[in-house]
Amino acid sequence: MDINDNSNIEAFVLREFNYRESSKIIEVFAKDLGKISIIAKGVLNKKNSNLSSTQRFVKASYNLYRSGDRFYGIKDASLINSYSKSNKNFDIIIYKSAICDLLLRTIDLDQRDFVYNLIDTSWESFEKASENYLNIFLCFLLKYISFSGFKPNLKDCSYCGEKINPNSAFFSIENGGLICHRCKKHIRDRIYISRDEYLYILKLLYTPSVEVSQIDISIDKKKISKLIIDYCLECLDIKKFSSLEWVMK
Ligand SMILES: [Zn+2]
Repeated sequence: MDINDNSNIEAFVLREFNYRESSKIIEVFAKDLGKISIIAKGVLNKKNSNLSSTQRFVKASYNLYRSGDRFYGIKDASLINSYSKSNKNFDIIIYKSAICDLLLRTIDLDQRDFVYNLIDTSWESFEKASENYLNIFLCFLLKYISFSGFKPNLKDCSYCGEKINPNSAFFSIENGGLICHRCKKHIRDRIYISRDEYLYILKLLYTPSVEVSQIDISIDKKKISKLIIDYCLECLDIKKFSSLEWVMK
């Protein structure tokens, strides 16, 4: 086995838990490798220097050894970014928890680079933003779901294909996008979308993640959050989980 293959692996910690007396198991999203589980032996001992690289939400670089099929162990690690500001913000912690829990519940996509970069830019955006954290969270969901093959149809009616008039549009989770006013009578799960709500969703999808906290459109945030979350869960075929409930409180 070529142990050099597992050196300098950059990853984001999605979840951590203590294991036996002094060890931890962390689940990370690693560049190229995607989701893997890592055991950090003895990391809770006082003199161990790897502890900071095993905390939830940090970005770190690991030198690993192989321990079974999808299981690794840490030889040593170095912290790349602790996101010291955002990882102390209660709202951001809730959003990040929901993103990590979502990633832990879904199957790795083939193009792991995309997901890795999306986490990277989202964590960076949370750290830099001073407001509108919800935008960053919803932007993550929309981009993640789009990349998974469920990009919501926002330009044309998902039922008849006619161009959507933003002044009179509805969203249908079942149909995967907007519905025009002529087709609304055929769609049972339609949700009315105002012009501003339409623009908000459009901007979330097409604005780079680092600028998304600057989108400032006055809308019913609860309604649109619920819509995007429900759409996401439906597409990925997963049930609501507790950190998502927190987001919606
Ligand atoms: Zn239509």
